[in-house]
Amino acid sequence: MSIRNKYDFIIIGAGCAGLSLAYKLINSKYKICILELSNNINKRNKLWSFWDTYETPFSHLIKKKWNNLIIRNEDESIKINCNRYKYQSISSKDFNNYILEKINISENIDIFFSEEVVNISKKTNLIELTTKQSTYLCDHIFDSRPSKNNFFMMQQFYGAYVKSKNDIFDDNSAVFMEFSNLRNKFHFNYILPFSRNSALIESTYFSSKKEYNMLNEDYINEYMKLNYRNEKYEIEKVEFGSIPMDTSINSLADSYITKIGSYSGATRASTGYTFINIQKQTDRLANLLPNLKSSRNKKYFHSLVLRNMDNIFLKILSRNPSYMKKALMCLFRTKSHNSQIRFLSDTPSFIDIIKIIIYLPKVKFLYYSLKRKDKNDKYSR
Ligand SMILES: Cc1cc2nc3c(=O)[nH]c(=O)nc-3n(C[C@H](O)[C@H](O)[C@H](O)COP(=O)(O)OP(=O)(O)OC[C@H]3O[C@@H](n4cnc5c(N)ncnc54)[C@H](O)[C@@H]3O)c2cc1C
Repeated sequence: MSIRNKYDFIIIGAGCAGLSLAYKLINSKYKICILELSNNINKRNKLWSFWDTYETPFSHLIKKKWNNLIIRNEDESIKINCNRYKYQSISSKDFNNYILEKINISENIDIFFSEEVVNISKKTNLIELTTKQSTYLCDHIFDSRPSKNNFFMMQQFYGAYVKSKNDIFDDNSAVFMEFSNLRNKFHFNYILPFSRNSALIESTYFSSKKEYNMLNEDYINEYMKLNYRNEKYEIEKVEFGSIPMDTSINSLADSYITKIGSYSGATRASTGYTFINIQKQTDRLANLLPNLKSSRNKKYFHSLVLRNMDNIFLKILSRNPSYMKKALMCLFRTKSHNSQIRFLSDTPSFIDIIKIIIYLPKVKFLYYSLKRKDKNDKYSR
């Protein structure tokens, strides 16, 4: 087993969080190493979508922007105005390749693939990381590995990138949530049309159980048949995954480890949105770096108010998904779309929060906010 160089920082994982932090520190005075388990981080497609509420250095990578989002059920379709905060998407492949290229020509960052970190131990002055092939030394670790917890709920999804022969999609509007009428399930379709003849069509659950139905190519084909009968199309590629929805995920770790990314709590529990939060986390950490050891790490990424609101939302969602679908329609029917977007993007003002509370059906929300625990509550694990 070889002992590699000593680094200032080692980043575990070349996912969105690891690469975002590395990008921020390219050509800095720090010597950095990234250790990534996979041999190819582009193997799986991910499309990261978010509202334009926070400036990132990746705006040139944006694949498409939308001014409108639609939320609909069988009876009603509501248009969410995104003129002020455009909804937009970045492909993980474009993001990864852009950053990898910069890392490859940088003088201060090494990246090693097929390196699974299996052990971390503190020596007198240094931290030792062991992989199956090597041992690495550093002063501090940024760790984006997933934690092994059971989560309150998971967002589970399967999507296909569809290319049609004719122009069949309306690429001015994306469909944020198209609720299916499955009883006792919070299931919806999410549709991002990139052009008149190409779109991502995704089937999504928010659920505390592992879902199997309707998360496959057959479902996408059914969807196309139902909505675009006789139109010719092909599926170019697919994306799938699951994202934790749990307000208890936090960044507690040893003093020589800073957790980053989704499993440090950067994922918003009620929505799964993470990309912009990772960018905020990266900016914050980069500013703290000179005094990282003396600065206190924030245990929770999100404020207590947002976590409490998300807790109530997830409890109702898990016990009464049909009710929650109606409640969301009710919320978006009101025209305070900028407040709603800021709320979903984790940047609500006090007034935005008040508006959300006022516009949501109050009786159930009040009931669940007062009734903190229940024997059937999966949250009390
Ligand atoms: C398909 C998909 C679509 C999504 N869409 C959106 C979206 O539209 N908007 C949004 O805001 N968020 C979205 N998300 C959520 C979120 O943005 C992503 O999950 C984000 O990629 C999380 O980044 P991360 O770096 O925390 O974790 P990851 O990207 O999972 O990175 C962790 C890395 O650590 C590596 N690793 C694990 N164990 C080890 C080990 N022992 N040693 C070394 N390396 C290790 C893994 O291989 C991985 O590369 C989506 C997620 C998925 C999966």
